[in-house]
Amino acid sequence: ALGTGWVVDWVRASAEVVKEHRTELVRLDREIGDGDHGENLDRGFSAVVAKLDGIEADATPGAVLKLVATTLISTVGGASGPLLGTAYLKGAGAAGAATELDADALVAVLTAARDGVVLRGKAESGDKTMVDAWTPAVDAAAAARDAGGSEAEVLAAAADAAEAGAAATEPWVARKGRASYLGERAIGHRDPGAQSSSLILRAAADTAA
Ligand code: ADP
Ligand code: MG
Ligand code: MG
Repeated sequence: ALGTGWVVDWVRASAEVVKEHRTELVRLDREIGDGDHGENLDRGFSAVVAKLDGIEADATPGAVLKLVATTLISTVGGASGPLLGTAYLKGAGAAGAATELDADALVAVLTAARDGVVLRGKAESGDKTMVDAWTPAVDAAAAARDAGGSEAEVLAAAADAAEAGAAATEPWVARKGRASYLGERAIGHRDPGAQSSSLILRAAADTAA
């Protein structure tokens, strides 16, 4: 099972991948939003990384996820800060006091995270938001777990599905967030939040492999 070391690795890898893809996320958000998504997430995850060295040696995975949540909520701003912050907060709740996360626990964490985004933002599947990365990821993770997959396999299935989910948003009109003001002009552009969520879930899989 995956412990606190993995969560810390995942968070660091998320910060790196967000930094690497900052320009791409800015470009996507410039096309159908206000062009700040890459900056917002880079600022948030950089702030998280700065706090990682201060965590207690006996911190649980849930405690680290909670630190990510509170830091993202206070530093990201924009729509994505509270949404992703709530995802990590609910994920932390699902992790509870466990010191290690097995495949079942990972599915519970991902499901709670997705439910948190939906609770906070009220988007449905197909609205062209980060939910369109998270929901296929949760479904694929649960299917991989049901098939007896390892933790790494569960996370890889989630990452693959999130990537496909983000790509699938391209031909859609948006029904939530800034992109919804564009009507048909959002067609042909990938949702930036779905793309960043797929990058974060890929980082989860890569660090578990
Ligand atoms: P802002 O739109 O405030 O500038 P960001 O650019 O950081 O915030 O984030 C935009 C992303 O937030 C969108 O691409 C979309 O994925 C996500 N988003 C916006 N509104 C919602 C919502 N109601 N539910 C889920 N995700 C949303
Ligand atoms: Mg924006
Ligand atoms: Mg903004």
